[in-house]
Amino acid sequence: MRVLIGGGSGFVGRELTRQLRDKGHEVTLISRQPGPGRITWGELESRGLPPCDGAVNLAGENVLNPLRWWNESYKRDLFSSRIDTTKALSQAIAASSSPPRSWVLVSGVACYKPSLTAEYTEDSDWTPFDLLSQLCKEWEAAAFLPESAAKTTKQVVIRAGAVLGQDGGAMKQMLLPFWLGLGGTLGSGRQPFPWIHVSDLAGIIARSLEPPVRSEATPPTPQMYNGVAPTITTNYEFTKELGRILRRPTIFPVPEFIMSVLLGSERAVILTQGQKVIPMKTLESGYQFKYPDLTSALKQIVGS
Ligand code: NDP
Repeated sequence: MRVLIGGGSGFVGRELTRQLRDKGHEVTLISRQPGPGRITWGELESRGLPPCDGAVNLAGENVLNPLRWWNESYKRDLFSSRIDTTKALSQAIAASSSPPRSWVLVSGVACYKPSLTAEYTEDSDWTPFDLLSQLCKEWEAAAFLPESAAKTTKQVVIRAGAVLGQDGGAMKQMLLPFWLGLGGTLGSGRQPFPWIHVSDLAGIIARSLEPPVRSEATPPTPQMYNGVAPTITTNYEFTKELGRILRRPTIFPVPEFIMSVLLGSERAVILTQGQKVIPMKTLESGYQFKYPDLTSALKQIVGS
């Protein structure tokens, strides 16, 4: 299978590329930077979709970029880096004379309203309630294919929780303070912390790329999957388990107002609030998690 991955040079893309190449598939990245095995977004727009059997979009400015202050220009970049790239790919797929059999977008669980009690599956109704949920709505809408293209290309949206792995994402920023014994709960610590190991997110994407069985009709709307581990975890449980595995104390809670001052209140909610997200459709699809529980995931990350 030939797979085209927008933003494939990043944390999730590197793991997905590794898994696909290990299975003998060919991978081409779409990037802002030209290079071997890549095309640029400009080339996609000017030359159209290169021949491929599957396409994925993982491009997006990092929401927790510690080097960027929370201001209007950063917010614009968060939107445009996701929506423009997703639109460029969905339009190229719709215009292609030999479209791929599958098209996968990874969005986020920020579409679901944070709550200590509500549980969300892929079937849960939601409407935007803040900036990040509005971003999810516009991002997912940008991926929709017109009816004619949806007949030949299977559309999938995977809503990911915090992606955990050694090579990037939240863990990269958390490991040093935890090693130094400076780790602690964020805000009340009672908020749910939906997470997934990077190897499982890549596994769910790779599985979604598999073409539909010949007899299956391609549904006109995207198939939704929650990209989270099946174990519900709170920030307190996550903090204590990471401290236990690292054999470090976790006695320095970070109050919510400090997080809001440091990150901006609209993005601090990613860490100080959370949602109980159930990967109902993901499990029903038969996907078997390699790291279904936090202990096995953290041991793999910290031990490797
Ligand atoms: P990364 O932060 O690693 O970024 C992925 C790629 O996006 C980069 O390698 C880069 O590719 C491209 N990119 C970065 N900034 C911009 C920009 N301003 N404009 C255009 N392209 C840009 O992402 P992850 O691999 O961690 O995540 C993949 C996707 O999953 C993202 O869309 C993210 O929002 C989503 N997601 C991630 C979560 C996580 O915890 N990591 C949680 C939930 C969702 P290049 O430099 O080659 O152009």
